[in-house]
Amino acid sequence: MGTHMDAPSHFIKGSWRLHEIPMERFSGPAVVVDISARAERDADAEVTKGDLLAWEQAHGRIPDGAVVIMNSGWGRRFGPTDRSGYLGIPAARLKADPGDFSDMHHPGFGAEAARWLTEERDVAGVAVDTISVDPGASTTFAAHLAMLGKRVWVIENAANVDRLSPAGHTVFAVPYNVRDGSGAPVRAFAIRTDLLASGGGSVVVAQNASIIVLIGLVSALLS
Ligand SMILES: [Zn+2]
Repeated sequence: MGTHMDAPSHFIKGSWRLHEIPMERFSGPAVVVDISARAERDADAEVTKGDLLAWEQAHGRIPDGAVVIMNSGWGRRFGPTDRSGYLGIPAARLKADPGDFSDMHHPGFGAEAARWLTEERDVAGVAVDTISVDPGASTTFAAHLAMLGKRVWVIENAANVDRLSPAGHTVFAVPYNVRDGSGAPVRAFAIRTDLLASGGGSVVVAQNASIIVLIGLVSALLS
């Protein structure tokens, strides 16, 4: 259970399965929303509509085809050494029952923010540095339903999102092409948009472009 993509069909019957997502939806301008300061104090912190509007205030309207990324700081907790901290489950309870994932506490997208983002803007995907796009305490999975319901893919357990600037990177995120799949491991990376040039239909990366690899949380978290 490392960095993976949920296809819309993961929650929405009859919607896009992995092989049906158009290739052009696998890349887009990164919109990075930083809630790490709040999440440091509150494991139940959510990306709010206000956070998205504040991003627009600073950087302009969320572009069509964007990949909206939550930076909650949780990526730093990932790893076999701190499963408890990453999942927001007390260590003693995890030890008693390693399969008990009820009552988790980690950040995610609030319901109102998820609905606004997918109804009022046209984004390709959403990525989070936690195990779920819904906050751990959610029981309704409103963010999953809102996003996948609008054919917006979701990446969970994204790494290194704190190395991205709020705007100015382009994300590429391509899952295995699993026929009829509802989810798959994904390799995701980002490149500064000003170092990309397109010509003749191909994407050219400047030689000195530093590529930020977003994938990385691949250790067996749940095994
Ligand atoms: Zn999911």
